Amino acid sequence: MRLAGKVALISGAASGIGLETSRLFAAEGARVIATDLNEAKLAEIAGPHITTRKLDVLDPAAIAALPGEVGAVDILFNCAGFVHQGTVLEATEEEWQFAMDLNVRSMYRLIRAFLPAMLERGSGSIINMASAVGSIKGAPNRFVYGVSKAAVVGLTKSVAADFVGRGIRCNCICPGTIETPSLAERIAANAEKAGSLEAARAAFVARQAMGRLGRPEEIAALAVYLASDESAFMTGQAVVIDGGWTL
Ligand code: NAD
Repeated sequence: MRLAGKVALISGAASGIGLETSRLFAAEGARVIATDLNEAKLAEIAGPHITTRKLDVLDPAAIAALPGEVGAVDILFNCAGFVHQGTVLEATEEEWQFAMDLNVRSMYRLIRAFLPAMLERGSGSIINMASAVGSIKGAPNRFVYGVSKAAVVGLTKSVAADFVGRGIRCNCICPGTIETPSLAERIAANAEKAGSLEAARAAFVARQAMGRLGRPEEIAALAVYLASDESAFMTGQAVVIDGGWTL
């Protein structure tokens, strides 16, 4: 078991990639603190190795109080995020602010909360959820999302550079299109424009050169690698896992 003896905190753990990662971290021996805004869905994954806790990552006071409540962690997986649709001309000030707060500032706050205890112990792995969209590849209709996920790559490299000599690693994951509940919503939102639900889905599938969507458990497997000591020589990386989208 690759995460035996480690404690992991995950945000956005009630659905999709965060959910599968919580399960896989626990299966690999970690004690998992699964957090999310959605308490009802979160309750479904509670188990012997997974404790659940409501956390709105937009709430700075709740984040600041969290280390005092749950203690130090070995692994911090910042997974919560939201995908806005639209171009620069359509993005409102509110959408810009929301995307930057949820997709980027929440990571800054969670890292500030948990990094001091990691530094005291001289070890820790921080994993941030970025995307193939943003600094790796531009994608139509993803303006504020792409901006925010590009910022996650910068945040990741900055943290990695500052603490590389003190036992802290910080990497981010850049997935292509992954079959999750939020993707289903995006497909539905594009159905009218594409002509049908099937056509909208086919357009998302076609982006990956492999001709299929990714599965949340495939991203979870990468998160396990980044969380574990197997990746001990790796920091500051934006790891692309995208079915060949950016080939
Ligand atoms: P999802 O919608 O299935 O899950 C997101 C979870 O985040 C939900 O459980 C939701 O309740 C939670 N959440 C939302 N706002 C929150 C808040 N303020 N505080 C705490 N939790 C909150 O999403 P997913 O598709 O699994 O995506 C997870 C991450 O992966 C996101 O950061 C997303 O941008 C990124 N990502 C997804 C894809 C994809 O194709 N699905 C591709 C690249 C990157």
